[in-house]
Amino acid sequence: MTTSNDDLFTAARASIPGGVNSPVRAYGSVGGTPRFLVSASGPRVTDAEGNVYVDLVASWGPALLGHAEPHVVAAVQEAAARGLSFGASTPSETVLAELIRSRVSAAGVNPIEKLRLVSTGTEATMSAIRLARGATGRELLVKFAGHYHGHSDGLLAAAGSGIATLALPGSAGVTAATAAQTLVIDYNDLGAVRTVFAEHGDNIAAVIVEAAAANMGVVEPEPGFNRALVEIAHEHGALVILDEVLTGFRVHPAGYWGLSVERDGLYQPDLFTFGKVIGGGMPIAALGGRAEIMDHLAPLGPVYQAGTLSGNPVAVAAGIATLERATPEVYAHIDAAARRVAEGVSAALDAEGVAHSVQWAGNLFSIAFRAESPRTYAEVQDQDAFRYGPFFHAFLDAGVALPPSVFEAWFLTAAHDDAAIEQILAAAPAAARAAATA
Ligand code: PMP
Repeated sequence: MTTSNDDLFTAARASIPGGVNSPVRAYGSVGGTPRFLVSASGPRVTDAEGNVYVDLVASWGPALLGHAEPHVVAAVQEAAARGLSFGASTPSETVLAELIRSRVSAAGVNPIEKLRLVSTGTEATMSAIRLARGATGRELLVKFAGHYHGHSDGLLAAAGSGIATLALPGSAGVTAATAAQTLVIDYNDLGAVRTVFAEHGDNIAAVIVEAAAANMGVVEPEPGFNRALVEIAHEHGALVILDEVLTGFRVHPAGYWGLSVERDGLYQPDLFTFGKVIGGGMPIAALGGRAEIMDHLAPLGPVYQAGTLSGNPVAVAAGIATLERATPEVYAHIDAAARRVAEGVSAALDAEGVAHSVQWAGNLFSIAFRAESPRTYAEVQDQDAFRYGPFFHAFLDAGVALPPSVFEAWFLTAAHDDAAIEQILAAAPAAARAAATA
């Protein structure tokens, strides 16, 4: 049997495009052979060669409690033993919907009255947009440059994540007619928001925004930005879709929305999307909002949305077990772990004289190789990104797996204990030297 990462990658490339089922996994921007993982536990992952890494990817966010958390695994095993999928309603779907719904509460307000479960974040945002169009009778969508909302046709213009990593402007295969219905504007620029509404306000169905941008590296909305965005959209009769697929239940028990309401005061987006943490590593995502909007979905309303595996009972069990354990202590632990890692790595970069900024949104962070914090996609791209490959590989050689792109957030989990954090910090000086001499 083949066990080296090199051999596995060769074999994978023969049968899977690029050898990967999602582009950023291919190490395109950092170079080298992707690690083929065979198991994971707590803060660590193990590759096919038996190498163990402290993991800062956390499956790109879902592993809030750490990998293979025993209660979550037990819940999945019990659910699986009762049947993998029924294609019918189950009691546990409502339990998960209620766990999500009730947590999204701040300043005495609960903006989600109803919720529908889907299987991926892409489906959640795609369905939210269709719903917004169906509910408003309007066509245009506004999105921000550098924000990633999944890979549906209308959302790939100037998108973050793999589109940014591969330096693509968008995607081939999206028709000009579809692309023309998405208006892309600069993030953190309320002037641009006012201008797009002044020009197209009557025909804008919705603005979609990452609750805090985390797919072009982390770029937090400026104080009051999300709130003002909602105000402007509502003045023009448009809806706001707050995409919490990445941030939801990761940065705060009430999502980034809950965190930002504490800072900025109350604002009420019309629709929310979730994914990642709500499935605890299994494929679950959701869209939710006021009943008056959500009830446009079939079978109550004319906006069609469906899924053979939607609300899958095994995935729902993982989501319930994860959210039930997402306690304030878990967030306090992740917040503190993230600060220690970011401060230690930043100090190592300072010691080597590497210009950088640490970008925060709650406990999410990323490091940009430029002295000043970027606020927009153009500023994010204006950095010494070439330093990231050597930096990444120095960490990998020391048994620490960072996200394989400078445009992705670093994910800590409840399982990152002192030993894991110390291993990361011990690797930082050599990684900083590699970045300095890149
Ligand atoms: N929205 C955001 C903010 C995301 O970060 C992602 C995935 N990284 C998605 C949507 C798409 O989710 P999925 O990959 O599950 O389709």
